[in-house]
Amino acid sequence: MTRLALKHKAVNLAQGFPDFPAPQILKDAARQAIADDINQYAITWGSKRFRDQIAAKYRRNYGLEIDPEREITVCCGSTEGMIASLLAVSNPGDEVVIFEPFYENFGPDTLLCSANRKFVKLHPPDWTFDPDELRRAFSARTKAIIINSPGNPTGQVFDRAQLQIIADLCQEFDALAITDEIYEHIIYDGTRHIPIMTLPGMRERTILINSMSKTYSVTGWRVGWVLANPEITESVRKVHDFLTVGAAAPLQEAGVVALGLPESYYTDLARDYTARRDLMLQMLERVGFRCTCPRGAYYVMADFSKLSKDDDIQFTKHLIETVGVAAVPGSSFFEKPEDGARWIRFCFPKKYETLREAEARLTKLG
Ligand code: PLP
Repeated sequence: MTRLALKHKAVNLAQGFPDFPAPQILKDAARQAIADDINQYAITWGSKRFRDQIAAKYRRNYGLEIDPEREITVCCGSTEGMIASLLAVSNPGDEVVIFEPFYENFGPDTLLCSANRKFVKLHPPDWTFDPDELRRAFSARTKAIIINSPGNPTGQVFDRAQLQIIADLCQEFDALAITDEIYEHIIYDGTRHIPIMTLPGMRERTILINSMSKTYSVTGWRVGWVLANPEITESVRKVHDFLTVGAAAPLQEAGVVALGLPESYYTDLARDYTARRDLMLQMLERVGFRCTCPRGAYYVMADFSKLSKDDDIQFTKHLIETVGVAAVPGSSFFEKPEDGARWIRFCFPKKYETLREAEARLTKLG
């Protein structure tokens, strides 16, 4: 969609990355690290200073004690964190439970591991799951469940009661929770992010994955991390070593600065994204989309039934080629394309002028 958007000079609300600058203090820290000649391989599982800073973050924010020597692997974004974790813990034929609609990568990730996927629907408008349906997806062959909260594409944020249902099933079926918490700080309306790792009995059976990409608007830096118990970490580190050797050394130094930013950085980030979300919802609903309201992350799922009888792919092409705005067809987030045929996903980590330009173009639809 990004390639099509470029070809037709469409406003790109498809791929989820900011078009505004990264924080100056991080750019300065990265520049300084290169000038200081931190330009060779870091320790494979991450520079000590960065791992110490990651451990301090989880102690400060959640009271979690994570051993930086044996329980943290720094990797090339959460993308690598997820595939390295799945390769480390699963054998071909193991079952992995995935909520649907899902972030596109979870599909190929599980295929690369030859895992069997069990999809469990999140139901609009709140994108909640049915506990009985979830239970039916678990079996003696379940190795793990992938949890992405706050979630892409739906913006759902699982509350403590929902996490408890998942945690109980993980313990009953001896399964792991693999969590993608990349939108941890992009969260609205006083909603709280709770890592499932903090729930009783889950410390040892959770693999927590996060990255700098979204929180610090540096998706191109490719720096993420995986937290897991020492035994799992040993396996994740082996896979990581042979996949990528390590994440960019100078950018890990900038990561030390990033994770040391004051609380106000995160409050401002959430406040700023709330304003962009509200603008996005307003402009989409004004022209006739029916949107679900995200409680976290920076995407809006929009039902276009009132605007067109086309399927999601035809409608997205029309949107790009004729209206000049790019989005992602809903079918990208479902196992069966027909389940996503009435939806498209817009993202809003964009400058106000970009969003206003999209708004002006979208009026052509009304
Ligand atoms: N996980 C989710 C849910 C995402 O939405 C994205 C990017 O859009 C990623 C992971 C990619 O993260 P990273 O840049 O850390 O590899």
